[in-house]
Amino acid sequence: MIEMKDVHKWYGQFHVLKNINLTVKQGERIVLCGPSGSGKSTTIRCINRLEEHQQGQIIVDGTELTSDVKNIEMIRREVGMVFQHFNLFPHLTVLENCVLAPIWVRKMPRKEAEELGMHYLKRVKIPEQAKKYPGQLSGGQQQRVAIARSLCMKPKIMLFDEPTSALDPEMVKEVLDTMVSLAEDGMTMMCVTHEMGFAKLVSNRVIFMDRGEIIEQNNPHDFFDHPQNERTKLFLSQIL
Ligand code: ATP
Ligand code: MG
Repeated sequence: MIEMKDVHKWYGQFHVLKNINLTVKQGERIVLCGPSGSGKSTTIRCINRLEEHQQGQIIVDGTELTSDVKNIEMIRREVGMVFQHFNLFPHLTVLENCVLAPIWVRKMPRKEAEELGMHYLKRVKIPEQAKKYPGQLSGGQQQRVAIARSLCMKPKIMLFDEPTSALDPEMVKEVLDTMVSLAEDGMTMMCVTHEMGFAKLVSNRVIFMDRGEIIEQNNPHDFFDHPQNERTKLFLSQIL
């Protein structure tokens, strides 16, 4: 589903991604971790072209990301993204937030889009909030709206960038539970998260990045219990 081959990226002079090679197959659930500034967000933002890479190839669902706008639009339709800060439209209701892309991008009739929106709001267990505005919801509820909104586009892949790190502790679980249930449904997922419990529970593979490079990747059992690289060991000793 996702293939990154020898990908390099620079911000000006700063070499932020160094030779990233990574494959995500259908149904895989990848957790990306590493110290602050190691390039995790940049990596996943390159996958839906929120950032541009300068060297190497990124292929998503068979389509290579180039400057071709058609390809970029096609890939964005297939890839859902959920951010740390929910990025909902504050002046639109919860349901309006959900139906916007299906109506404007997928050209779906409004009634059908609203049914779909309600379906996914039920899926994330907040259908009763449909007519409220994002500012009237808790952080955990807003994040679940953001997930529902992404699901309305029927993405083939979901990317998450620290979806729980801006939440109060008591709201983390409701969002993680939503993500676990997506994983159980077989969604292909790539998540940047510091929730190592989640990583152990649902991921097939944990990837550790440091200073713009992939240092180590392994199944969660071996990754946590038998880390190979010194930098991985140091990182794990700091967060576990
Ligand atoms: P965190 O855990 O803090 O979110 P991260 O691993 O997601 O970190 P990135 O956001 O990918 O890290 O950033 C990687 C590096 O690139 C950092 O050193 C950051 O300062 C730098 N960087 C990020 N965005 C830009 C930008 N738009 N322009 C210049 N440098 C940037
Ligand atoms: Mg980040």
